[in-house]
Amino acid sequence: MQAFTAILNELDHVVNHPSEAVRKFKKETGREVIGCLPIYVPEEIIYAGHMLPVGIWGGQTNIVKSGAYLPGFACSIMRGIMEFAVQGTYNDLSAVICPVHCDTLKCIGENWKVAVPNVPCIGLVYPQNRKSETGIAFLTAEFQQIRSQLESLTGRPIADEDIENAIIIYNEHRKTMREFSKIARDFPVTVSPKVRHRVMKSAFFMDKAKHTMLVKALISELRSLPAEEWTGSKIVLTGIIAEPDSFLDLFTDYGIAVVGDDLAHESRQYRTDVPQDGNPLERLARRWADLEGCSLAYDPAKKRGQMIIDTVKENGADGVIVTMMKFCEPEEFDYPILKKEFEKAGVPHLYIELEQQADSVEQLRTRLQGFTEMLYRR
Ligand code: SF4
Repeated sequence: MQAFTAILNELDHVVNHPSEAVRKFKKETGREVIGCLPIYVPEEIIYAGHMLPVGIWGGQTNIVKSGAYLPGFACSIMRGIMEFAVQGTYNDLSAVICPVHCDTLKCIGENWKVAVPNVPCIGLVYPQNRKSETGIAFLTAEFQQIRSQLESLTGRPIADEDIENAIIIYNEHRKTMREFSKIARDFPVTVSPKVRHRVMKSAFFMDKAKHTMLVKALISELRSLPAEEWTGSKIVLTGIIAEPDSFLDLFTDYGIAVVGDDLAHESRQYRTDVPQDGNPLERLARRWADLEGCSLAYDPAKKRGQMIIDTVKENGADGVIVTMMKFCEPEEFDYPILKKEFEKAGVPHLYIELEQQADSVEQLRTRLQGFTEMLYRR
């Protein structure tokens, strides 16, 4: 258990000090660090160029200056990102890549040029028509653009072979994170909702090969222990992100274990591997075509609701908590469909609106308490 705690402390330190992790990487390797805005930046291309991709998902800060670039009704993740950017938090990055998945992200590229002129912003357009060969060809060409711009930035070519190797490392990482999510449900005390979240989050600031190694060590420690008894409730989380941390502390207060998730910030990243055949950039594009159940990926068949219901059943969960990022239109558009499908399937759910910058989550306390009492009475 000592080894388990030591690894958790290491991951926790990275989560609490991402800027320090970036500076350390730069100092030790002399290489560039590239910021990846949410979500689905093809990190493998960055990694193949011997750079460190780091995830940028906002965080808790006072919104002071970002109001000049984004309205108050933009989601709090992007307002937080712009605030950090204007304050200079991302000045150690050599560039950021901004995928255009929603109206808010569409504005970021242009605003970024004015707000943070010292950190270039590379735009990335994802096709809505993602499963057709035309859509795949379009995205492959977009990825080639990303590769060319990164090559210009560093002056080093990015070889196909290096992208192939990066795909192997990233697919292994995805597999490991799926295994972690699976075993974590048997240890709801040791792997509390906050611990689970922080293990997932630490991946955004570390070399994926190293993160895989550490998470494999965590899994092996857990495998040596007997499964933990749990008399509380078990839920599946869905939404973009489950933050701030104080929100997850409430889960522990009310005996709620997270036994699975469909969060964009967590398991959605890991459930789809890069397929085997084709040239490496085309394979990365085909991953976007294969991806299912995400509010940002066009899906006329609307499979997401059933996928969450299946996750509930597979993990023996009592219900779903929808963590709605305030003003996130793609998630808000999905919710009425999810609600209808949860009700039809008899899956209880709780809708909670979250803001990363929330001063207090106390008003959510009563709602979580009410939800757990309702689950106990069933
Ligand atoms: S998808 Fe939602 S959370 Fe993400 S940037 Fe767009 S509005 Fe914000």
